[in-house]
Amino acid sequence: MSQFYLIMDVGGTKSTGALFTREGELVDGYAHVVQSQTYHGEEAVYQNTRKVLDDVIAHFGISVDDVIGIGVGAPGPLDQEKGIIIEAPMMGWKNFPLAERLSKDYGKPTRIDNDGNLGALAEHRCGEGKGFANVMYMTISTGCGGGIVINNQLYRGKHGGAGEVGHVSIDLMGRACPCGSTGCVEMYASGTAIARQMKADMKEGMKNLVFELAEYKEEKLNGRILTQAAEMGDTYALDLYQKEGYYLGAALANYFNLYDPDVIVLGGGVTKARTFFHGEMVRVLKERCLQPVEESQIRYSVLNDRVVLYGAYCMIHDYVTN
Ligand SMILES: [Zn+2]
Repeated sequence: MSQFYLIMDVGGTKSTGALFTREGELVDGYAHVVQSQTYHGEEAVYQNTRKVLDDVIAHFGISVDDVIGIGVGAPGPLDQEKGIIIEAPMMGWKNFPLAERLSKDYGKPTRIDNDGNLGALAEHRCGEGKGFANVMYMTISTGCGGGIVINNQLYRGKHGGAGEVGHVSIDLMGRACPCGSTGCVEMYASGTAIARQMKADMKEGMKNLVFELAEYKEEKLNGRILTQAAEMGDTYALDLYQKEGYYLGAALANYFNLYDPDVIVLGGGVTKARTFFHGEMVRVLKERCLQPVEESQIRYSVLNDRVVLYGAYCMIHDYVTN
């Protein structure tokens, strides 16, 4: 009897596979991670993707007959309805029919969606947004992405492009973004943006504890070192995180002014340093928001690294049961 869902989070640098029970329990907390970078070419990357699922099946000693369906979180842009990855340069996929291929190979219903949407779905169903009808999820990591739940439903928009919270502009004359716009939130608040700022300041000849900890080597500049310096009271590090709070506060005010959600859940690596930017973020948010938004409406993801896996479970479970 079919009992489990095969779940996967496909990424450019690594892919994670996991097993969920029919009721939505992540089995044994086992997550099988494979580095994707070592594989090249459309078909090789696909076979690597399959291998992750095969390894999960083997690890738990189940058979494909025990699988109810397959849910996959994948890099976008993608066509959720058709199950096609439109373009994922890091995977070498262009118009790749991922859902159809997996569905044929395993003979099981398969659904895919992007990380941002699945993050929102997961937070709404079983995370910090549980019990609320209107929930936004935002991940602040290498990039900034997210998803929107309105009236208990994931909102995808006309072209499936809703929830691109990282590409809302907070400075029309600001930094050029690869998306073609200028001043996108992602260009200021993402981990990549923070690292870029550190590198530029070091090149300028600035001296401070952060750069000392990195031995004045560009490749050693990262969020961990910045946080370490902030913990030691370094003013440069504290100032960078203040700016992070400033940018995020402005971005969140835009989201609240646009659709007044019950809660916004923040996740991603950068939020690990929230002690250093939360206060400024909330201050700027309240200053710029038309409604009397409460600090409690901002929450931090507890699902974190597993958020896409949980979202993919919710997606395929809904598809199979409805
Ligand atoms: Zn952009």
